[in-house]
Parts: sequence; structure tokens; C-alpha cells
Amino acid sequence: MVKNIAVIRGDGIGPEIVNEAIKVLDKVAQAYGHTFNYTDVDMGGCAIDKYGDPLPVSELQKCVESDSVLLGAVGGNKWNDVPGHMRPEKGLLRLRAGMGVYSNNRPAKIWPQLADASPLKKSIVEQGIDFIIVRELIGGIYFGEHKTEGDTAVDVLRYSESEIERIGRIGFETARKRNKKLCSVEKSNVLDSSRLWKNVMHRLSAEYPDIELSDMLVDNCAMQIVKNPAQFDVVVTENMFGDILSDEASMITGSIGMIPSSSLGATTCGLYEPIHGSAPDIAGKDVANPIGTILSAAMMLRFSFDMPNEADAIENAVSKYLDAGYRTADIMCEGMTLVGCKQCGDLIVSFLTKE
Ligand code: NAD
Repeated sequence: MVKNIAVIRGDGIGPEIVNEAIKVLDKVAQAYGHTFNYTDVDMGGCAIDKYGDPLPVSELQKCVESDSVLLGAVGGNKWNDVPGHMRPEKGLLRLRAGMGVYSNNRPAKIWPQLADASPLKKSIVEQGIDFIIVRELIGGIYFGEHKTEGDTAVDVLRYSESEIERIGRIGFETARKRNKKLCSVEKSNVLDSSRLWKNVMHRLSAEYPDIELSDMLVDNCAMQIVKNPAQFDVVVTENMFGDILSDEASMITGSIGMIPSSSLGATTCGLYEPIHGSAPDIAGKDVANPIGTILSAAMMLRFSFDMPNEADAIENAVSKYLDAGYRTADIMCEGMTLVGCKQCGDLIVSFLTKE
């Protein structure tokens, strides 16, 4: 198969981790006889420097016309003082909206080899950590009106029933393919938008009698993720709550550097990115963990290109790499072999075989 992939390296560690994911994709192409064509897209701080715009329309167009987009990360201290509408992260929000990818899927799964890297007690980790956060991605407070007048700033949180319904359905459908438990997370004791969220989820529930729906307030969910993560199968929530909870969930699995994500809308053209940011503190040092990006590439093969065997091959190569005792600094434990970003990518390539 021939697939055209738009590649956004971005800022900070973005170029380093994306390069490793491309090495792995090239090995998959070679092993399975596919052709992956890559088109470079500038977005984020690097695009501000080049064009004075975090995502020029021509760059967005390249993404929309591709079969899928692979993204590293954007942002950094250099652009902290640019006006809000020009910040690197604005490019990302415009990309998500421009591609119409309303459903962000973030797995929180502990690799057995990394049990010691979790900050949670062994007794909690042993109960298992394997859940998915389905996050609404192009609505809510990140996309509402933002304004500052004098000493007052306003950010608007708005959701319509149809926006909640389409992500709610993804939540139910995701649970249907797993253990059939869906936890809807909101703040209905305070927010109108959350009361609407809860009502829509319960209305939808009648169409999915095989799925056990529960409600949880977001503050309680933050606590339950560290107290008893084994209780979760699929969590569905709005944009900002999902952003925060998925970072928390990633940490209990060992490192934010390990977690991939997929974002999809009405078509198979998806956006695939690790859940972390551009990590300016470690950029350019060849110490970043590229596995979140490599696993995002695997998700691209699975969900957008219908290549499940190829996706399995990448995930198995990551597992073999961990079994062999290699660790980047973020997940380093006693007795393991410390490797850098490039070496991690090379080793995963060397463990990748046709399944
Ligand atoms: P961050 O995720 O970049 O970093 C948080 C911590 O995790 C840092 O200590 C970092 O070194 C570490 N870390 C992150 N990824 C890692 C990896 N692959 N390997 C090893 N360690 C890793 O979050 P931040 O520091 O709050 O944000 C930095 C910049 O990234 C900001 O400009 C922010 O706006 C931006 N950001 C971008 C995205 C994105 O592009 N999707 C997401 C979040 C934050």
C-alpha cells in the first residue's frame, strides 16, 4: 500500500522523537512491502519563526490532504511572550479543528516490564492499569471565546448536545470493544455544561444496554486514578478535564514519554501524537523517550491504514526492547541499560520483524 503521511516535527524534542518514529515506519514499510511518503509540515514555534504564523493555511492544507498526520510536539519558552492567538499551541488547536478530529483516544496501560517505574505502590499496580481516556478534542473551554479586559480575563466553556453526543457515542463504542464499562466524567455539581453532558450520556445509554455506564465528578476521578486505577475501562470526558486526567493517568504508567494518542473525526485521516509536550528542558540532548511517538505511529497503522499486523509488529518490538532491559532516562531503573533517544529508536528497529 502507498500512504502519504504529513509529518510535523515541531519544537523542542519534537524533531528528535519524530525521527525515531520515521525510522520505525521505514522498517515496517520495508518488511511489509508498503511505501510511506512523508511531507514535512511546519507548525508551532518553528512556523512562527519562519512565517510569523503558528500554522499557515498552506501547511494545514498539506495535513488535510494527507492520509494521516504524525506530530511530535510544539511550544517552548522562546515563544512564551507572543500574543495568545499567535502562540505555538494555537497552531495545534487550529490543526485539530481544521482536521475535524473531535475524538482523542489516550490509552493508560502499564507495560509489565515497567511496573517498577510507576510511582504507585506495588499493591495497586499489581491490580492492573489498562484503561482508555476518550477526550472531546475540538470543543469546550479551549475553543470558547478568550478575552482579557483590564484586570479581568474570560474563557468561555460551551458544549452543544450534538458535540456531546458524538463523543459520547465514541465512548460507548470503545467500551463495547473492551470490557463494556464506561465512566462519564464531569463536574455536574457546579457546571451547566456538565449537567447537559450527564443528561446526554444517560439518554445515549438506552441505546447501549450492554454497556455499564457510571458517572464520576472530575475531582473524584483525579483521586480514583491514583487510588484504584484498576476500576476503569473507558473514561469519556470533555476537553480540559481529559487533558489533565490523561497526563495524570500517563504518569502512573511510568512516564509521560511512553503514551501515544490518536485523534479521529468523520474520516480515516487522523492525527497521531505522543501526549507529552516539547520538553524544552531536555531538548537537543538525545535523552528524550521516543516510545510515545513510535506507538502513535503504530496507532496510525492500526486505526487509519487498517494495518493491524504492522501495528502489532511495532508494539511487539517495543516490548522486546523493554524485555532486553533498555531504558531511556525517564524510565531508568536499577540493573537496566541506559540508552539515548537515537539508540532507543535503532534498537526498536532492530527488534522489529514481520509478524
Ligand atoms: P512536557 O510534556 O513538555 O514536559 C513535562 C515533563 O515531562 C518535563 O520534565 C519533560 O522533560 C518530561 N518529558 C516530556 N516528554 C518526555 C519524553 N518523551 N521523554 C522524557 N521526558 C519527557 O510539558 P511542559 O513542560 O508543561 O510543556 C513544555 C512545552 O510543551 C510548553 O510550551 C507547552 O505548551 C507545550 N506542550 C505541547 C503539547 C503538544 O505539542 N501536544 C502538549 C503539552 C504541552
